This record gives sequence, C-alpha cells and structure tokens, in this order.
Amino acid sequence: MDVPTYTPAEAPVPEGEIVVERGSTPQQLGPKFNRTAADVVRFLLQQGEMVTATQSLSDDMIELFALDVGAEVSLVDPGQEQEVELQRVLDIEDDEDVDTSDLPHRAPVITVMGHVDHGKTKLLDQIRNANVVAGEAGGITQHIGAYQVHLDGHDLTFIDTPGHEAFTAMRARGAESTDIVVLVVAADDGVMPQTIEAIQHAKAAEVPIVVAVNKIDRENADPNRVLQQLTEHDLVPEAWGGDTVVCEVSALENIGIDALLENLLVVAEVEDLRATADGRARGAVLEAHLDMGRGPVATVLVQRGTLRVGDPLVAGPAWGRIRALVNDRGEQVREAGPSTPVEVLGLSDVAQAGDSFVVAPDERKAKAVAETRERWHREASRARDASVMSHGARLEDIFAQIQAGEQATLNLIVKADVQGSLEAVIESLRKLERPEVRIGFVLRGVGGITESDIQLAATSSATIIGFNVRPGRQARELAELEDVEIRTYEVIYKLLEDIEAAMVGMLAPEFEEVVTGEAEVREVFRVPRIGSVAGCFVQSGTISRGSKVRFLRDGTIIWKGEISSLRRFKDDVKDVASGFECGVGLSDFQDLKQGDVIETFELREIPRV
Ligand code: GDP
Repeated sequence: MDVPTYTPAEAPVPEGEIVVERGSTPQQLGPKFNRTAADVVRFLLQQGEMVTATQSLSDDMIELFALDVGAEVSLVDPGQEQEVELQRVLDIEDDEDVDTSDLPHRAPVITVMGHVDHGKTKLLDQIRNANVVAGEAGGITQHIGAYQVHLDGHDLTFIDTPGHEAFTAMRARGAESTDIVVLVVAADDGVMPQTIEAIQHAKAAEVPIVVAVNKIDRENADPNRVLQQLTEHDLVPEAWGGDTVVCEVSALENIGIDALLENLLVVAEVEDLRATADGRARGAVLEAHLDMGRGPVATVLVQRGTLRVGDPLVAGPAWGRIRALVNDRGEQVREAGPSTPVEVLGLSDVAQAGDSFVVAPDERKAKAVAETRERWHREASRARDASVMSHGARLEDIFAQIQAGEQATLNLIVKADVQGSLEAVIESLRKLERPEVRIGFVLRGVGGITESDIQLAATSSATIIGFNVRPGRQARELAELEDVEIRTYEVIYKLLEDIEAAMVGMLAPEFEEVVTGEAEVREVFRVPRIGSVAGCFVQSGTISRGSKVRFLRDGTIIWKGEISSLRRFKDDVKDVASGFECGVGLSDFQDLKQGDVIETFELREIPRV
C-alpha cells in the first residue's frame, strides 16, 4: 500500500482542552482537532497501528494523536459529552474559576487506604467509636457509607469504605470526593503492593497523604523501616526533612489516634477547604442500595450548598423529591450542608456510587434529566453488550481463545450485595482488560444470584461472579443442569487473582463450597440463659453442629460463622436431616428473621482437567 507521509496540516488546533469520548473513531476525532479522518489514520499508520476511519480508537491512540498535533485532550466516557447539555437544563454554573477565599470553611473529607489487613477497618472503627464515647448524646454512628467526627470544635468526614477500589470507582466516574488520604501501613509488614497502588491513586488525584504507621503495639513493629520504604515512593517524613505527615498508631490498642486526628485537622487547615452553604446542593453519591422497607436509599456527600427535605434531586439516572434525610447517627434531619454525609430517601431508582447529584430548579427538570440519562445508559449498554455477547467466552475457555490469537472476550455476569461493591468489582475487573482480552459485562446487578441470571449465562456463554451474594437452591440446581459456572467471592483481590490466572491459562483448582444443608428460619425465640434460637425447617441435606454456615436474606450473605448449638426439641443433637425441624443457637449474630435461609457448606477441591 502506498503510504503518504504524514505532515501536520496547517490549520491550527483549537485552543484549550478538547473533550473526546473514549472509543471515538478517526472520523469523529479528526474534526475536533481541525483535521480529517484521513490525517488520523495516516498518523496512526506511521506509528504502526492500522485502523480504518470508522474503527474505535484506544485511549493511547487518541492521546498520541493529540500530542502530535499539540492539543490538550480530555477523555470522557461516552455520554458525558451530552451531559454538558443536561447541565445546562439544570442551570448549573461552572464554578471552577470562582474565588472561594471568602466562603466559609468546610470539613475535610478523608478516605483511608492501604494494603489488605494493615488495619484500615480497625482504624475507621476506632475513630468512629472514640467519637461516640467522647461525643455528645446521639449515640452510635450508623453504617451509612461515611461518618463525621468532631474534634476541638472542628468536624472531619470519613468515607467509611476502606480501600482504593471504592476511591478509584468514584474517581473513574468523575467524583472527586476526597480531600485527604490516610495511608495505613502496618509497621510489622511494611510497604506492600496495595500500599504502592494507594500512593499512586492519591498522587493521581493530587490529594495529600497522611501516613498512619499502624500496629506499633506489635513486637516486630519496625516503623523506621516503613519510613525508609515510603521515601522510595517520594513520601519523605517531616522528621526527615520532607513534608509528609506521619503518625504512629495502634488501631487495636487505641494509641495515637487522637494525634492522627489532630494532624488531619492541621493538613485540612493548610488545604484551606471552603464551600458555600448557600444555593442548591451538589455533591456525590457514595453508596446506594435498595432497602426493602424504605425503597432506594442513597448515601450522598454534600459538596456545596445545602440539601433539604423536599428538594427535587437528580442523581445519575435517578430522581425524586427528597422524602427524608438521615444522618450518620440514624437521626432524621431537615438539612445537610457542605461535607456532610447523609442518607437520602425518596429517589425513583438506585443511583450508582460515584454519580454526581444536584438539586434541580424544579421537579419537572429533575425528571426530564434523569429520564434522558436513563435512556442513554440503556442504549449504550445494549449496544456494548450485544457486540460482546456474540463473541464472548466463559472463564474456562478464555485462555484457549487468547491462544487462538483471536480478540478474546470474557463474558461475565456480576452480582453483588450493594451498589458500591458492584461498582468496585466492575472497575477492578476493567483494569484487567488487555489488548487481547476484553471483558464483556453481560449483566451487572445488585442482589442474589437468580434463575434468570443462570438462564442468561447459559445463553450468552457467561460465567457468573457473585460478590457477597449466593445462588439460591433452585438457581444452583439450574446452574448444574445448564453447566453454568458460578464463582462467589468475598474479597476483590481473590476474584482478580482468579480472573488473571484464567487469562494465562492457570485457573487454579477451585475450592468449591459444597452446600451440605439448607434450612429455612420459621421463627426466632429468646431462650433464657441461652440467648436467641432460630426455629428452622431443614429443606435439603443435613444441618450439623460445628459446620460452617452462612445466613442468607434474599440471596445476600448477611453472616458467616459456625453452628455452635443445635437442638431437636429439648435435646442437643449432632445432625438434623432434611424434613425435620430444629433449633439453631445464635451466638454472635442475633439478627435473623423469618424467611432467612441457613446454609451449611464444606470446602471441596474441584480438580480441573
Ligand atoms: P483491613 O483489611 O486493612 O481493613 O484490616 P483490618 O482492620 O481488618 O485488620 C486486619 C487485622 O489486623 C485484624 O485482625 C485486626 O484486629 C488487626 N489489627 C488492626 N490494627 C491493629 C493494630 O494496631 N495492632 C494489632 N496488633 N493488630 C491490629
């Protein structure tokens, strides 16, 4: 083929940031830069990439082209460009260049990140508890996705989902919700892969990092080694002449937590965080789920303005007039100002973590915008899924497809317990995509794994991934019949490990949790001196004392542990078989309800051929 050499056209490229949708074609891309589709194709050909004018381009290709013509590019997800139009309907002014120096201060919003098991959860618990003890009446902080603590007349807001998955998922959706990252590093373990990832995420978001060297109570704690390691990642402690604030803490023994909080306040002061409490509220959705009693519930973080009961709200494709606001103490409130996390009731639909929300000028506009978004989402995902499903493969077949040199697509159906974890799982999975393997999300949803999920998996050659959710008995039976693989997980990195392994043909034998018995809760009683006992009916298999067990409500795991006591009438027994009633003693977990399912299981290795 005769390849003309690429010479930059004379027309100047537009000034400023050029917004480009991911996956744009040369035909769409060229004109944005005052170039033709042919210019783009020619340039890429020179780089060794053969594309046609109507083929989607990768992020790298788009950025390379922009660099070459000397333009500044901002990549957005499809649909976001149209968003600009909707923002106009909602009459939102762009406040990027507004002078904020006269506005009131607001509380810093803090996210805790770090390697697994380094103590993020413990630290968040300790901060929350310390505040309850020291705090005024109002009592226990609820799990609403974020909470506030008060110290020396100041507030600090903590995002209550530790880990960088949630943080990244939020950022990927354009929600810059965090002001300060607390990086937890265990003093006995030092800097680990997820520590480094967390540092990278915080740096990419240009968010200051405060290091909490945790577990200093441990005998083998070596805080100095941690500091040394952090230096290698450009975090130089203040004590060593750098500007990184480092606090030594023990989340377990409550050592150094106050000092950490004080330091966070100092960093917040330096950051000079301000926002107006006037005007229509705006912010980000932190977490959203469907509550059986209350309908769709979203925890939002107000970033500016004041959110009030009765306001017409739009959050992504959901909208509604706010019926009630509930704060992190579980109290109903009338309003919530900047940096306040609050639960919103009254939305039409389950919003997604990372969606931005805004109070609309009126209800009609709120509805119109939400419905337009909903339609776009539907169209976009239908188009993507259709193209994916027809080419995709199951987890066990993916390696063969890659080896065959085809563009392989791994078809997944992902179900999770709450919207936030679903987002996190999807975002993390997306990062595993490589040029030769793509992941097709045939379906993603919140809730237990159902028979219709199995049916869809069977017809679309998909593997089902459950995160903190399980299939019911009928779904499980159908899966066996249809030869659909269901993999369930409770930690993201295990899931990612498996998928990565499958991509290189090394999917490890799975320790399948084989269900050994299933019982339905018919009634819960309180027995003096024993505590609560669930009166159950064994529906299949056998329930045995000492077996591993999980409690399910609508297919979602609500508790895991062991059966400590098992009775038939007044007698302690070892096993109860299907068709009989029994009493299961509840020790740690008391919150069973009628209709919940008790599932016992054991681990068996499934060899792979
Ligand atoms: P995460 O995975 O980072 O959320 O870690 P967790 O908060 O779940 O903590 C992991 C384990 O470390 C748990 O067994 C905690 O009890 C323990 N742990 C957390 N903080 C400390 C600490 O300061 N000292 C000691 N000795 N153990 C801790």
